[in-house]
Amino acid sequence: MPKVLDLVIAPNKILLTSCEDIKLIDNDLLELIENMILTMNRFRGIGLAANQVGVAKKITVIDFTAISKIENHQFYNNINNTNHLYKDGMLIMINPLVVQKSTTQDHYLEGCLSFPGATLSIPRSTDVVVQYINIKGNEQTLDLPRSLLNVCIQHEIDHLNGIPFTNYVSPLKKDITMKKVAKTYKNMQHKVSY
Ligand SMILES: [Zn+2]
Repeated sequence: MPKVLDLVIAPNKILLTSCEDIKLIDNDLLELIENMILTMNRFRGIGLAANQVGVAKKITVIDFTAISKIENHQFYNNINNTNHLYKDGMLIMINPLVVQKSTTQDHYLEGCLSFPGATLSIPRSTDVVVQYINIKGNEQTLDLPRSLLNVCIQHEIDHLNGIPFTNYVSPLKKDITMKKVAKTYKNMQHKVSY
């Protein structure tokens, strides 16, 4: 049975660690994927990178179905019913890599399960091309137009490269954010102990 994993909360060094490439898709990896999906759902995330559950390996799970419900995008029809999706509409990306990105950027409001209580406006390339290995071991390419999915994938790939979203804001803003995260996390633990 899959189990809910502990979330890594900032500040924690593993969030600043560039994760290792995955060389083998074995049962341990499939178990990790199931646990990550359950953990993401439990904490109501739309994406989760392995180092956010303490595993420094290049894998991320993204809740494509949830994203396509939040944002209606013509492009999402191309992703449905393709090799991109795992069961329950999950997008599982092994060793994902941004291979091309536009110089044009937009700012998006982002949250992160490892930074509870924080919302930051982050500049992201409007168009990116991403390569990854799917769960069957096949190389896939995604040409992503401006969309929530695009932003989510860039956020998760950054995690796997040891780049949390606070890297994009000023030292002052980062400081304020970390204080807010510490306070929110303390309150969360308080609630859990009842
Ligand atoms: Zn995150």
